[in-house]
Amino acid sequence: MKTKRILVTGGAGFLGSHLCDRLVEQGHDIICLDNFFTSQKSNVTHLLGRKNFELIRHDVTHPIWLEVDEIYNLACPAAPGHYQFNPIKTMKTSVIGAINMLGTAKRCRAKILQASTSEIYGDPEVHPQPESYRGAVNTIGPRACYDEGKRAAETLFFDYHRSNHVNIRVVRIFNTYGPRMHPFDGRVVSNFIRQALTGEDVTIFGDGSQSRSFCYVDDLIEVIIRMMNGPDEFVGPVNIGNPVEFTMKELAEQVIELTGAKSRLVYRPLPADDPRQRQPDITLARNKLGWEPNVPLREGLKKTIDYFKSIDMDSFRAPTPNY
Ligand code: NAD
Ligand code: UDP
Repeated sequence: MKTKRILVTGGAGFLGSHLCDRLVEQGHDIICLDNFFTSQKSNVTHLLGRKNFELIRHDVTHPIWLEVDEIYNLACPAAPGHYQFNPIKTMKTSVIGAINMLGTAKRCRAKILQASTSEIYGDPEVHPQPESYRGAVNTIGPRACYDEGKRAAETLFFDYHRSNHVNIRVVRIFNTYGPRMHPFDGRVVSNFIRQALTGEDVTIFGDGSQSRSFCYVDDLIEVIIRMMNGPDEFVGPVNIGNPVEFTMKELAEQVIELTGAKSRLVYRPLPADDPRQRQPDITLARNKLGWEPNVPLREGLKKTIDYFKSIDMDSFRAPTPNY
C-alpha cells in the first residue's frame, strides 16, 4: 500500500484521535492538527513517540501551509454545550475552517473529507432521514451556529468540487459514542455514564421519549476511512450511523443497569429546538460502501463505561473561552 501524508484536523478530539490511531497503524504519515478547544493532548499522547505521527497546535480559522495527500476535516466542537459556548466561533470554525482546508486541498491536489452531521436535517419531519431530505433547521435558534455552519461547509465542499475540481467526500455522521468522549461535554451518553458512575442523578431532558440512534466509534471510523478510499465518483453526502433507535429514557435505564448505579432518574426541561427523533437511513452506505455497523449499544456502552472508570474525570477541563 502506498504511504500517504494525511492531515486530520480536530485530530485530538474524540473521533479524530481514533481516526489517527487507525491511520498511524496503517503506516501513513499523520499530521494531527488541533487547538484543543474541546479536547486534550491525553487523547493522542500515546501516539507522540511514533515516527509517523506529528501533532500541531493550530486553529483552522487561520491559514496554514502544509503539503498533504489527504485531509480529514473534523475540527469543530460537536457537543451542544461546547458549540453553544461560543456560537460565533463555532460558525467561523465550520466556514472559515472549511475554506482554509479546501484551499489547501486545491493547492496540493489532495482529497478532502468533511465530517458533516445529522444536524443538517434539524428537527426532521421525515423519518428515518435519507440523504435526499433537505432538513428543517431553525436558522435563528441556539443550535443554528452548528447546524448552519455545517450546512454552509457542505455547500463550500460541493462548490469547490464543481468549480475547482477538488476531490471531495462528505459524510453525515449521526450520534456516535465511545471511549475518549469528554466527560463534561454534556452529550447524553457521556453525561449519563458520568452521572451514574459518580452517583449523581441522571438528567433526562423533557419526558425522555425523544430518540437517537447511537453508533459505536469503531464502526464509524471504519466507514469514514472506507469513504475516503472509495471511488472518486462517489462523493456523498452519505449518512453514517447505526440505525437502531432508542429513547433517552431507554438509554438512561441501560446505563443504570450496566453501571449498577443507585442514581435516580430526574427530569429537566427540554432544550430549545431539540430534535424529537433521529435515525439514519443508511441504504446508500450499505450499497456503495458495503458497510454495516455491528457493535450493539449494550456492548459499546460497556466499553465506554470501562473507559470512564479508567480516567481521572477531575483532570478534564471545560472549554477555554476562545475568540
Ligand atoms: P470533539 O469535540 O471531541 O472533537 C472536535 C475536535 O476539534 C476537538 O479536538 C477540538 O479541540 C477541535 N477543534 C475545535 N475547534 C477547532 C479549531 N477552530 N481549530 C482546530 N481544532 C478545533 O468532537 P467529535 O465528536 O470528535 O467530533 C468530530 C467531528 O465530527 C466534528 O466536526 C463533529 O461536528 C463531527 N460529528 C460528530 C458526531 C458525533 O456524534 N461524535 C456527530 C456528527 C458530526
Ligand atoms: N439529553 C438528556 N440528558 C442529558 C443530555 C442530553 O436527556 O443529560 C438528551 C438531549 O436533550 C437530546 C439527546 O439526549 O434529546 C441527545 O443529546 P446530545 O447532546 O447527546 O446530542 P444531540 O442532541 O446533538 O443529538
